[in-house]
Amino acid sequence: MKIQKLFLSVALLCSVSAMADTEIIAHRGYWRAPGSAQNSLSSYQNADRIGCFGSEIDVWLTKDGVVVVNHDPSYNGVVLETATYAGEVKNLKLANGEKLPTLEEYLQVVKKGKTRLVIEIKTHKDMWRENLCVDKVLELVKKYKLTKRVDYIAFSYNATLRLIEKAPKGTEVYYLNGDKSPQELKQIGAAGPDYNENIFLSKHPEWLAEFKRLGLKVNVWTVDKKENLQFFIDKGVEFITTNEPELLKGMLGK
Ligand code: MG
Repeated sequence: MKIQKLFLSVALLCSVSAMADTEIIAHRGYWRAPGSAQNSLSSYQNADRIGCFGSEIDVWLTKDGVVVVNHDPSYNGVVLETATYAGEVKNLKLANGEKLPTLEEYLQVVKKGKTRLVIEIKTHKDMWRENLCVDKVLELVKKYKLTKRVDYIAFSYNATLRLIEKAPKGTEVYYLNGDKSPQELKQIGAAGPDYNENIFLSKHPEWLAEFKRLGLKVNVWTVDKKENLQFFIDKGVEFITTNEPELLKGMLGK
């Protein structure tokens, strides 16, 4: 009887610690909080306030060399890659009235918080400019002494390889596009995949165990449904990127 109880408590402890291993990354910040907007400074502050492990943003390089934070290639008809910051971008306003932030403005806010920043380098039309974007982002993160608090993600294989090559040793770079095998990501020195949930739910369910076996960390996006959040918690993935950080927080008991 005593031994049974002991086994039960060990099993309970193990399941609690497996649950606690998954970290929350707020997708484009915690923008669903009242008064916020995707990729806004307040979306980072909200993620930080509720204690998210990480908060994600998307970045583009403008024609005049300013790294700006936005998801889509264009905002209100202004194509970020070909517009100038000084001319067209600096006056753009987000849905909640905040200005469309530069990365530099973002880093100043991150500096005051505890939550990590996950920077997604968007796929630029011009590969040369995409490379320049990677280099500028690394330079700014170094300038603000945030190297140890920033992780990187990219759909572009070119940007992923450049980040791995140029970022300071120990920097974690994750690949988003879902088309590279665990072995391939291990070989290039990526920290792991940051793949769409459907890759693991249906296309390559076997990859979850394979990534773990190779010692890579798994991040999965964008998981918002309760049953899918539970699935990935149970699988013990390292990170879940979600638009519902408070829901996930409750489920993890954090
Ligand atoms: Mg993104």
